[in-house]
Amino acid sequence: MENGAQRILTINSGSSSIKFSLYEISNTENLILSGKLDRIGLEGGLFQAGDSKGGLIADENLRLPDHIAALKRLFEWLVENQMGGAEISAIGHRVVHGGSKYNKTSLIDHEMMLALIKLIPFAPEHLPHEIKAIDAVSRVYPDCPQVACFDTAFHREMPRLAQSFPLTRELFDEGIIRYGFHGLSYEFIMNELEENIGVEASKGNIIVAHLGNGASMAAVKNGKAFDTTMGFTPTGGLMMSTRSGDLDPGAVIYLMKEKGMSADEINELLNKKSGLLGMSGISSDVRDLLEREKEDARAKEALDLFCYQARKFTGSFASALGGLNTLIFTAGIGENSPVIRERICAGLSFMGVSIDEKLNKENAPVISAENSPVTVRVMKTNEELMIARQTARLTKELP
Ligand code: ADP
Repeated sequence: MENGAQRILTINSGSSSIKFSLYEISNTENLILSGKLDRIGLEGGLFQAGDSKGGLIADENLRLPDHIAALKRLFEWLVENQMGGAEISAIGHRVVHGGSKYNKTSLIDHEMMLALIKLIPFAPEHLPHEIKAIDAVSRVYPDCPQVACFDTAFHREMPRLAQSFPLTRELFDEGIIRYGFHGLSYEFIMNELEENIGVEASKGNIIVAHLGNGASMAAVKNGKAFDTTMGFTPTGGLMMSTRSGDLDPGAVIYLMKEKGMSADEINELLNKKSGLLGMSGISSDVRDLLEREKEDARAKEALDLFCYQARKFTGSFASALGGLNTLIFTAGIGENSPVIRERICAGLSFMGVSIDEKLNKENAPVISAENSPVTVRVMKTNEELMIARQTARLTKELP
């Protein structure tokens, strides 16, 4: 390892899988490997890792009864392959929710663990697994610094109005507010703009559309978070692959009272069975729906609603910001689907958004037409690298 370089392991822990990557960070940032531990707690556990070029370097079928067992196997494998042990400088975790307290990437200590446990009701689908992973790492590597990189942190600078729901003051004080998510992706995009494209590009009024399976948009003013579509949970905002996005709260009351649905059933409906999947009845994947839309009106309608909502939020954020200089598309759909970008931008020329058909088809870095007052960009996001970068920065000076 190069002198002064830091080896950072990133961990993104879900209910039955853990995604990881290993970076070496010095003046340069090099991905060494990335992979996943899959089907934790289920039959047919899997451990796979690939090198920086995607070549498979680990492929094991094994039982992974829980998160501790899964991480133990990863650490053993890293040591067996001379990549682990004391060579790991720090471990960065993606943590979905930092509540109102954690507004930046922070070192994990006992106090934070207690705070995260208290926050579980805010993110019951994600936080328990992330806490388990942090706990598992501290058992295997008690001396290795661990860092929490929060998906909510970026949005904590939003003006108070943008963070507010018009419920009671008591509920606001209890933390029932708009937190926003995908913050690591937004931070990465803003970093890229500032450092690789030019400070000027990061100035002014910007809308970033993070369109993946989970989809959200963020309004950014002079580099600072201004508003975002997701709310108290990642279920809100834009419709997504399987999540409903915003609804009339009365619809949820109706489901409870008239349909007798329990909280768990509503959770399942709104997070797993709605969105593109629910409306199309076919698939949650935009590629499948694009293939089927000519023959199946349901596929077309689902895609139409997705694009309509993204266009509507673009307009509403542009008015909230008081104008628009830059619109950025990122994540799976945003980076790869010219036709979805084109449909979202269609009809936005009145507010200065017009795209060049050829550049858009090529997924070019800038796809706006030459005379478009708004610059429209396609940028690749990299949440893992953001975790590694922030973890390296925070732990560099540690003894
Ligand atoms: P996640 O939120 O799971 O990280 P991704 O950012 O990987 O999601 O995005 C996954 C989605 O991107 C897929 O569901 C698929 O709909 C979409 N996608 C990927 N490639 C393309 C493509 N070439 N055309 C259209 N959609 C695509």
